[in-house]
Amino acid sequence: MRLKDKVAVITGAGSGIGRATAILFAKEGAKVVVSDYKEDAARATLDDILKNGCEGIAVKADVSKEAEIQHLMEEAFQRYGRLNVLISNAGIGEVSPVEELSEEAWYRTIDINLKGVFLCAKHAIPYMRKSGGGSIVNNASILGHVGFPGTAAYNAAKGGVVILTKNMALDYAKDKIRVNAVCPGFIRTPMVEEGAVKGQLDYLATLHPLGRLGEPVEVAYGMLFLASEESSFITGSSLMIDGGYTAR
Ligand code: NAP
Repeated sequence: MRLKDKVAVITGAGSGIGRATAILFAKEGAKVVVSDYKEDAARATLDDILKNGCEGIAVKADVSKEAEIQHLMEEAFQRYGRLNVLISNAGIGEVSPVEELSEEAWYRTIDINLKGVFLCAKHAIPYMRKSGGGSIVNNASILGHVGFPGTAAYNAAKGGVVILTKNMALDYAKDKIRVNAVCPGFIRTPMVEEGAVKGQLDYLATLHPLGRLGEPVEVAYGMLFLASEESSFITGSSLMIDGGYTAR
């Protein structure tokens, strides 16, 4: 098992990529701290993990609220006595060009998609240091590397996640904490299938040279590699999981 006895906190684990990652990590031997701001969604993912005979707990936390994130990391450490992996995955979509983007929507997108990554790292790192090191994987996006019409705040946040990942990699290498990002293309999750781009799925598929959207578990496998010791000499990197989208 690739994560045997590792303790992994996963945010936004009630749906989509986070949910697939939580279930995969548990099958790979991790004790998974399943977190989402919707308690019932986190609980449903945990139920599937427990049904598979694997181990974990569910903790409600909104990644944009510092007190809740502090509590999440405390709970994980108190329950298991260590914290080895953080998957900063929670995020929201936002579809507006700047002229139509309200200040409120800008702050909400930045608060969840970028500040959330900062807060999770800030409160996980002390426990990872006590655990002898760790691996942080941030869910950025291809849209942190290339533009896309009409998603200004989302792209700005994800670009921030890519460079924040590099900075944290430099700051915490001395503590044996690696920090990497995954950058998915368009993935078949509720964010895409039920969000503002839901009418454009066939078109979005054509933007990926492999000719289709990705599946959540295909991102989860990238997270697994970066979380595990198999990637022990990788830090500060962005792993594209995008069917070739950014290869053009
Ligand atoms: P998803 O199915 O919507 O899952 C995201 C989960 O995070 C949902 O349960 C969501 O709740 C939750 N969440 C939202 N705000 C939160 C908050 N403040 N605190 C804690 N949890 C919160 O979306 P996904 O596609 O799996 O996205 C996961 C991550 O991948 C995001 O960071 C996203 O930007 C990134 N990503 C996705 C794609 C894609 O094509 N799907 C591509 C590149 C990157 P609600 O359902 O209520 O919002």
